[in-house]
Amino acid sequence: MSESYDIIEHQHDVVVVGAGGAGLRATRGLADAGLKTACVTKVFPTRSHTVAAQGGIASALGNMGEDDWRWHAYDTIKGSDWLGDQDAIEYLTKEAIPAIIELEHDGVPFSRTEDGKIYQRPFGGMTTHFGKGNAQRTCAAADRTGHALLHTLYQQSLKARAEFFIEYFAIDLLMTEDGECKGVLAWDLQGGQLHRFRAHQVILATGGYGRAYFSCTSAHTCTGDGIGMALRAGLPLQDPEFVQFHPTGIYGAGCLITEGARGEGGYLTNSEGERFMERYAPNAKDLASRDVVSRAETVEINEGRGVGEKGDHMLLHLEHLGPEVLHERLPGITETARIFSGVDATKEPIPVLPTVHYNMGGIPTNAFGEVVTLKDGDPESVVPGLMAVGETGCVSVHGANRLGSNSLLDLVVFGRAAAHRCEEVVPKGKMHKANTSASEQKALDRFDRLRYAKGSTPTAQLRDSLQESMQKYAAVFRNEDNLAKGVEQIGKEVKSFADVSVTDRSMTWNSDLVETMELENLLGCAICTMHAAANRKESRGAHAHEEYTERDDENWMKHTLTWHNSGETDVRIEYRPVHINPMTDEMEHIPPKERVY
Ligand SMILES: Cc1cc2nc3c(=O)[nH]c(=O)nc-3n(C[C@H](O)[C@H](O)[C@H](O)COP(=O)(O)OP(=O)(O)OC[C@H]3O[C@@H](n4cnc5c(N)ncnc54)[C@H](O)[C@@H]3O)c2cc1C
Repeated sequence: MSESYDIIEHQHDVVVVGAGGAGLRATRGLADAGLKTACVTKVFPTRSHTVAAQGGIASALGNMGEDDWRWHAYDTIKGSDWLGDQDAIEYLTKEAIPAIIELEHDGVPFSRTEDGKIYQRPFGGMTTHFGKGNAQRTCAAADRTGHALLHTLYQQSLKARAEFFIEYFAIDLLMTEDGECKGVLAWDLQGGQLHRFRAHQVILATGGYGRAYFSCTSAHTCTGDGIGMALRAGLPLQDPEFVQFHPTGIYGAGCLITEGARGEGGYLTNSEGERFMERYAPNAKDLASRDVVSRAETVEINEGRGVGEKGDHMLLHLEHLGPEVLHERLPGITETARIFSGVDATKEPIPVLPTVHYNMGGIPTNAFGEVVTLKDGDPESVVPGLMAVGETGCVSVHGANRLGSNSLLDLVVFGRAAAHRCEEVVPKGKMHKANTSASEQKALDRFDRLRYAKGSTPTAQLRDSLQESMQKYAAVFRNEDNLAKGVEQIGKEVKSFADVSVTDRSMTWNSDLVETMELENLLGCAICTMHAAANRKESRGAHAHEEYTERDDENWMKHTLTWHNSGETDVRIEYRPVHINPMTDEMEHIPPKERVY
């Protein structure tokens, strides 16, 4: 039984958890539609990881050459290695056009062409005429697109009078006995009280779980909290084995150098000064999709052509672009290179290596953002009252591998779709009568147990061990032996959590307890990732298996669903079919093809 806490009650039509691009786009749409909306966020909205997005946001506007959303859809399906749902991809690429125009009208300060249109740059995997030409499709605000987007959406949400609860940490979902979501329990980190947010829809927009790895480009706040909450509510995580490595993380620091740098003409070399991507991807070369470039770099390093004393990285050249282009188009990364690798990018190459960047997996949803689960044999069974958008969700438009600049797009298109759906299904101002006391008590017991945890393993020590295991065993290339070791090792780490030690018992700014709750969320994400990777006997997208090197559409063109109960070493695995048919007849089904790079 837990200590009795005085819980402050709030009632809203909709509660959004998370204020990154996805959460804010949903919040802005909901508040604009007149729904009473709360946005709960553990960091100040404009500090969410979206602020770090550099390269841009894809949309077939055709401002800088011909383009068509169907070509964008084709590229996205191909990039997903045929694990993406074609109905959701149709929606993503078609709605990309009005969604970007809305952003422009909202005030996002996009870079401009000579004639005043939104500037668009080439990005990996983005083509015209179904793979024949190179598209210029990625809309950019210099190399600070996420920053521009987030500030605009926050301002618009404030204008629409959404209520923000900033530096509130969401602990767990409030569910009824029959599995309906009716709110969320959160902790005001500064005020020190617990808060019960009742709502008819909860939208999880808590971002990814890059911090399960030792070297990643994501912020320290990317700890998979929404996924942890969903797992504890008995809901699955879909396709967690697909983890994207970005080929140009700064060596040592992990910070990102955007793919836009190669879009602007940057290229990679090995220790022999060779532009090795020409061998791996004769057509796309340095702009091949991220999984291809990351694997090529790893092979170069493994075969002894890595740069540096340890031969463990590659070089990214931008110096030939000249200071003017760098200053105008890539000012942020020029600064990042100087700060984090001491390199003047206008004069010398930047040392880079593959770094964890994005989680394709997430809480499964349909194209309206509604969370789905497998129930009574139905893989499309909607969980009433719960939605998930952005990196925490899996709609699944990225399938086995995401194309650069399609995530910011995913945030705004599905954040917007979720708001539209709520407008249709959520009654304004309806009374809150649901009984969620059992799930609330469970959440309070957990909170209390962790707050008073007296074990012998410090949170930071266990987190280090987890991050090392993920980095080592669920890497760019995977094999049976490593994955089996990984499953065993993560199992041990999950067990060790019972022995975690928390030393701060206070309710105000208790970062020790916050990090411990975040660690439990990371452990859930990590164990599902490792088990799902060990289970998938093929290579597809970001999952490159050394013993099963081919894509196997007959047996594996299906989504993995994983369930995990806190503290257990088992993960239950089931499957969902990939949606191979588009949503309408405006687009044709794209059948699986061999990959030609
Ligand atoms: C360095 C970098 C550069 C990138 N560049 C690009 C790019 O150019 N183009 C592109 O398309 N994609 C890019 N991506 C990917 C893209 O930026 C991310 O996938 C995307 O921003 C995730 O947005 P989100 O809204 O889902 O979550 P985030 O922006 O991570 O926001 C998560 C929100 O959830 C809140 N939250 C989390 N847990 C809790 C909790 N327990 N309680 C309360 N609140 C919580 C946080 O406070 C935060 O507000 C980049 C990613 C990185 C890391």
